[in-house]
Amino acid sequence: MLTRALLLIVALVVSLVAVFSWSYTGSIASVEVEEKVIALTFDDGPNPPYTQAMLDTLEKAGIKATFFLMGRHAEAFPDQVKAIADAGHEVANHSYSHRLMLASTKSVALEELQRTNALLENITGHKPIHFRPPYGMQGPGAKLALEQLGLRSILMNVNGSDWEHTSPEPIANAVLESITPGSIVLLHDGHGDVDDPMAQDSRSASVEATAIIIKSLQNQGYRFVTVSDLLQLAAATDD
Ligand SMILES: [Zn+2]
Repeated sequence: MLTRALLLIVALVVSLVAVFSWSYTGSIASVEVEEKVIALTFDDGPNPPYTQAMLDTLEKAGIKATFFLMGRHAEAFPDQVKAIADAGHEVANHSYSHRLMLASTKSVALEELQRTNALLENITGHKPIHFRPPYGMQGPGAKLALEQLGLRSILMNVNGSDWEHTSPEPIANAVLESITPGSIVLLHDGHGDVDDPMAQDSRSASVEATAIIIKSLQNQGYRFVTVSDLLQLAAATDD
């Protein structure tokens, strides 16, 4: 009796592991490229004035990045979404409400993703093709929704951990210590955990860290591109 119960538990755990690892098939955390090129990504915006400060920093350095925007915040600050797109950065989907999508059904995930894609497309004229799951976590429902919408899930292999730090140096160091060619770097211009887009806190440490990261990596000969351009470079390397 005990053996049968144990076997059932083992089978259940094995199936769960299989389902959740399937949920991440097709997700990308980094790519293989020959040249020194990386993608900076900024999550949870728009969050003026920090999104604008990030845009100014990127413009000064002459580089392009990718912004994973929340639908709820895009709705509150459409001009900022437009400013990101007009500056030539990639606009991508980070769900509407920053819901944890580990156990979401397909229909709940579809609602989050479709609503945000429609909002962003309305503002920029372009349908986003990339999605980053809130908290970096997605389950089978989210995976099915991504497949239906033709969205690719983009994770990260380098993390500034800027939700833990209030000064720029540890954020910049965390990134600089682990960067390699083909990295996708996670930083934040906004906050996902606040319901009210107007109530967002400072991201000035992330903005300052970004300036330090760019300067240091440019000195090492790194180039910065959008996630879409990074994937194209990787595909070209594969050929
Ligand atoms: Zn987020």
